[in-house]
Amino acid sequence: MRKKVEFLLLILLLAGLITVSRNIGKYVSGDKVEKGKQVVVIDSGHGGNDPGKIGVNDANEKDINLAIAKKVEKRLKKNKIEVVMTREDDSTLAKEGDTNKKVQDMKARVQLINETKPAMVVSIHQNSYQDADIRGAQVFYYSHSQDGKNTAELMQKALLAVDKDNTRQAKANDTYYLLRRTEVPTIIVECGFLSNPEEAAKLVTEEYQDKLADAITQGIQSCLSQ
Ligand SMILES: [Zn+2]
Repeated sequence: MRKKVEFLLLILLLAGLITVSRNIGKYVSGDKVEKGKQVVVIDSGHGGNDPGKIGVNDANEKDINLAIAKKVEKRLKKNKIEVVMTREDDSTLAKEGDTNKKVQDMKARVQLINETKPAMVVSIHQNSYQDADIRGAQVFYYSHSQDGKNTAELMQKALLAVDKDNTRQAKANDTYYLLRRTEVPTIIVECGFLSNPEEAAKLVTEEYQDKLADAITQGIQSCLSQ
């Protein structure tokens, strides 16, 4: 009888130890996830009635922006980084009755960003210029933000993976609404020029968009590990 009791006590003790060690495991791994989990806002420029720049190949900037943004989102999530997208489809953030849709759309983006308080914001756009020879990805940051500058320089460097001959440098700007009004490091990535026939042709391909998304993801990860 006594032996039976001792045996039962031993079983209970073992069960207790297993439960405790399991919970320690949970606690430690949960803690790791929390610490490493940073939020990044991916802003896909334009959308809905605002097509953005129109390419020499008639491509709409808004579609290319969204395609690349979604690819970046997928990659970041795979790497356990939390992502908030300003838009998930071809739509504007302005409301139905808004009189100045463009202004309301930008205001809504800024509000979403400032409420989310992310570690950083990457706004994806495509460029255009009257000289068709001009090409290459370029990153913009707010002139008065040192964090923005560092973030932009790291991203510009990461974009060399797409084109190692790209000599463009991260550039300061103090007029873009998104850069002026957001309270966290925000950069605008102009992935390429839709006015350059060669670049415009590449920007609409899945293959080139994948390359850009890889580079942008890499850039975000270097910024987050700073
Ligand atoms: Zn744009």
